[in-house]
Amino acid sequence: MTPVDELTSRFRDVGLRVTPQRQVIFRLLDGNVEHPTVEALYDAARAEMPTISLKTVYQTVHELEDLGEVHLLHVGTGSVRVDPNVEHPHHHMICTQCGRVRDVVVDVAGLRVPAAARAGFAVADVQVHFRGVCAECAGASEV
Ligand SMILES: [Zn+2]
Ligand SMILES: [Zn+2]
Repeated sequence: MTPVDELTSRFRDVGLRVTPQRQVIFRLLDGNVEHPTVEALYDAARAEMPTISLKTVYQTVHELEDLGEVHLLHVGTGSVRVDPNVEHPHHHMICTQCGRVRDVVVDVAGLRVPAAARAGFAVADVQVHFRGVCAECAGASEV
């Protein structure tokens, strides 16, 4: 994601209003590696700015996606996850117990759909999701 001060001018350049509410969201996402859900972002934003609405958080996150500033991930944890790391191509490890999502850099250059299965399909993007149980959850289940 673009640094917060530049993001403010980017928003203005494309005619979007930069309210204090939006700036709170920019700041919360800056350098965030937690892949927060929109709801988690809303909770964090509300702690700083009680007047913010969930709708504003949704809108802002979608505007950021339209500008290519964040990726919205559907990783099967029930809620969309917001990923501000758009600079470095990466994949994800997802804990099926707590929903934690972590970045993982893995080389997928060699991953190909077999020609027989492709049937003219043009692959544009590859997203790898490693599902399993994180160390914290594994530890918690060992009584
Ligand atoms: Zn976990
Ligand atoms: Zn990520």
